[in-house]
Amino acid sequence: MDCLFCKIAAGQIPARKLYEDDHVVAFHDIAPQAPVHFLVIPKKHIPVLTDLTEDDKALVGHIAYTAQRLAAEQGCDEGFRLVMNCNEQGGQTVYHIHMHVLGQRQMHWPPG
Ligand code: 5GP
Repeated sequence: MDCLFCKIAAGQIPARKLYEDDHVVAFHDIAPQAPVHFLVIPKKHIPVLTDLTEDDKALVGHIAYTAQRLAAEQGCDEGFRLVMNCNEQGGQTVYHIHMHVLGQRQMHWPPG
């Protein structure tokens, strides 16, 4: 599978991993946009959010649960932001779904 995040999940490309279990991997973003910026990805290759099926509901919940738990571990006591970009207009650049976790700075709205 020629997918960057599948290769990171499989350990074929190095990443600063924060957490891993049977279903998800979390690792620091290579170009952080906040003092804390990591990604939580499923090990299953799902290119875009609109590919999700009924069977993936628990997996998405697990991604969000893992994201908030690791945000707390990373000291984001004052708050943090979760982002999932979908497709070109949504700003997605890597086509393997992932949840961004950004924290340790003030966020603004609307996003760019
Ligand atoms: P997207 O733009 O698809 O929502 O987010 C993709 C994210 O993956 C970006 O924030 C980008 O910095 C990050 N990224 C791209 N390539 C790599 C890589 O090789 N390693 C890591 N750790 N992050 C990457």
